[in-house]
Amino acid sequence: MKPIRKFTVRAVVPTPLAALEELAANLRWSWHEPTRRLFEAIDPDLWRASRRDPVALLGEVAPERLAELASDEGFVRWADQERAGLREYLDEPRWFQSLGAEVPRTVAYFSPEFGITAALPQYSGGLGILAGDHLKAASDLGVPLVGVGLFYKAGYFSQSITDDGWQQERYPVLDPDGLPLSMLRHPDGTPVQVTLALPDEGELHARVWTAAVGRIPLLMLDTDIPANTDALRSVTDRLYGGGGEHRLLQELLLGVGGARAVKLFAELTGRPQPDVYHMNEGHAGFLGLERISTHIGEGLSFAEALQLVRAGTVFTTHTPVPAGIDRFDRGLVERYLTSSLLPGVDLADALALGVEPGADPATSAFNMAVMGLRLAQRANGVSKLHGEVSRRMFGDLWPGFDRDEVPIASITNGVHAPTWTDPALLALAESHLGTGDTEHADWRSDAVSDAEFWNVKRSMRLQLVEDARRRLAEAWRDQHAGAQPPKWVGGVLDPDTLTVGFARRVPTYKRLTLMLQDPERLKAILTDPDRPVQFVIAGKSHPADDEGKRLIQKLVQFASQPELRERIVFLPDYDMGMAELLYPGCDVWLNNPLRPLEACGTSGMKAAMNGALNLSILDGWWAEYAGDDFGWVIPSADAAGDAAERDALEAASLYDLLEHRVATRYYERDGDGVPTEWVRRVRATLGELAPELGADRMVRQYVEELYRPAAEQADRVAADNDRGARALAAYRDRVREAWPRVQVVHVESGGVESPHVGDELRLRAHVDLGGLTPDDVVVEAVHGRSRSDERIEQAQRTPLVPSVSGTDDAGDPAGPRLFTGSIVLDRAGAFGYTVRVVPRHPLLVSAAELGLVAVAG
Ligand SMILES: *Cc1c(COP(=O)(O)O)cnc(C)c1O
Repeated sequence: MKPIRKFTVRAVVPTPLAALEELAANLRWSWHEPTRRLFEAIDPDLWRASRRDPVALLGEVAPERLAELASDEGFVRWADQERAGLREYLDEPRWFQSLGAEVPRTVAYFSPEFGITAALPQYSGGLGILAGDHLKAASDLGVPLVGVGLFYKAGYFSQSITDDGWQQERYPVLDPDGLPLSMLRHPDGTPVQVTLALPDEGELHARVWTAAVGRIPLLMLDTDIPANTDALRSVTDRLYGGGGEHRLLQELLLGVGGARAVKLFAELTGRPQPDVYHMNEGHAGFLGLERISTHIGEGLSFAEALQLVRAGTVFTTHTPVPAGIDRFDRGLVERYLTSSLLPGVDLADALALGVEPGADPATSAFNMAVMGLRLAQRANGVSKLHGEVSRRMFGDLWPGFDRDEVPIASITNGVHAPTWTDPALLALAESHLGTGDTEHADWRSDAVSDAEFWNVKRSMRLQLVEDARRRLAEAWRDQHAGAQPPKWVGGVLDPDTLTVGFARRVPTYKRLTLMLQDPERLKAILTDPDRPVQFVIAGKSHPADDEGKRLIQKLVQFASQPELRERIVFLPDYDMGMAELLYPGCDVWLNNPLRPLEACGTSGMKAAMNGALNLSILDGWWAEYAGDDFGWVIPSADAAGDAAERDALEAASLYDLLEHRVATRYYERDGDGVPTEWVRRVRATLGELAPELGADRMVRQYVEELYRPAAEQADRVAADNDRGARALAAYRDRVREAWPRVQVVHVESGGVESPHVGDELRLRAHVDLGGLTPDDVVVEAVHGRSRSDERIEQAQRTPLVPSVSGTDDAGDPAGPRLFTGSIVLDRAGAFGYTVRVVPRHPLLVSAAELGLVAVAG
């Protein structure tokens, strides 16, 4: 029978065990192994059954067992110690405090999804898990950060696979009362409500849940409340669920509602208001408009408010794939951006922020990434290669500038080691290497013998094999009305066979089925009598992506052949819970995206942290870190004629590597059956590579390279009653008005007849400033190698200075000005130079920022 209503009754925990409730309420348990051990000890079977979720465990455990533990002094002491540890962790000074930095005071980190733990399924893939890892690392480092997102009633979706291989989606509803969340309330106990004015439907209301992620509060807005109409209650029903309008409402709620929520949160908790706003992708871009609206209410113009907002905003782009970027119909956006929602904001000003470069402003789609870049003075991609790709992809926003001047930097993603390192490795480090810090353990030390090491790796593989069998049996029962699974299901995979993992979302560019290019060849690799290979595969396709579902189907059908089904398995419903066992259980992690479409990719990092070697196209993070000891590079066939040829060539390389490099190495054993050379590489991966891949490295970089400078800049433009913002806005208007008249009229050179290295080239540039003063601009020579007529490579810039007389030779104060300077020719070979004019203002961060440049000729 189906219940008409469901809710969760929380357990009554006996007073001596109050520490358990406090520990369960803070999500630090999701990465703190000692806390998990404590909960496991309550009831090991139930712990597994409740998928290692302390809140679920406390809800299910028998009251008699709790009573028994409450009178067990040893257990009570253990729980109290863990609680004391948590409290200390929450209060003690950490890395950020050691900087003695006054800013950032608070970073508000906005993301449409957060993957903290399988028990709080508010993520679809890499973007969300990265956001979760960002919060966890910020917590460990003591960075003052607040996460802002939405609470989706059914999360993303839960995946099952029919007998003929077709993905089906289910949307089990979450009960916030059964999760470690608390509602944000006013001092009188009434729930905080955030309200957005809508054009026709009236108002959209949201309550605000908070989760404690260690030291970091995460706010999640939820529209499923009686104050809303039924239609509006479902705004936060699912992650990436609906079409244009539904998605737009979610993003308005995230951006505008989120900005309002984080302000209220600061007021209610006495924390400093955010001075930095970080947009994790474009979805939260409307937060900039909300903040502009607030500043307009304080008496600023749109242009001045924009300067204030830009100074403290950081934008991270995550994808070079157009389908990964949100674009809305302009008419739709126009309908929602009303003056009731955003008082004082002129519609035309707001719409202009989303116009794609080169498009007709009257018809352009409203592009959220483009808006993000216009609203943020600092932006970054998520690996070095992705930074380059982004500078090319978005370069048209800064026309006239070379790619390397496009103001998009890069910070390579990282993954949170305490979350993603298998407890078996942790235990090994603790028992043999004298540290519970797996990232800094000396993995090459012979305190752990190769045989011991290999044994631990085998236990991790076995754990995956058992989990896979359990999942497949469950899936079988689910698909066949509870029927017993056939016997072979209990025998899939083998704990002593080379195990290759491949799991990720299934957009086409990730090429789930590349391995099926030559099915016979793959079959031969899987069933090799001496050196067999087994594959564990998982991944969800977006519910609206039938193409992705066809790829899954193709793979599932291949894997269900009786002679292969024990060697290649597709595990349904990939999530963090599966990932926790999958990465440690693999020997090799496979990644074969179409280069350069994988912005970073983090699954290979997690695999490396668990002693898997990577077998990957040179894309994303791997393009920076690939090394012989850490795995193998699948060469990209960049010169291939078309996509089909490229797939064929890259697949052939993949098979060759698997057969002749990977499997041969893996099965090369010493007298005790240990693959010593393989183990050496795994140790190198753990000891040398893994420490580079941590989210702590990433968050430190964000603090030093983006958050601190942004916070300082925000203070600077806001000082003296927003004097800087006003000045910069006025400057920008003035320069823009004059710019069409700014021109390098003529350049004379002298000093070299037949140029040699060491000679000095003297330049005299006559520049029409169009009414601007020499202080408003930089006139500079741009010079460097120039092998073609088109480009100056590795350009250097040398400023030219106004000549003493200030005016040109002709002496006309309104005429061209003379700027002079000289360049030393420091290198032999082809040389080229030009002269250009760019805006200069102390509050601009880069020459390209205003997108204005006048180049000679
Ligand atoms: C790490 C992770 C991802 C992201 O993997 P990519 O390599 O970035 O595609 C997706 N889903 C889950 C469950 C993960 O743990």
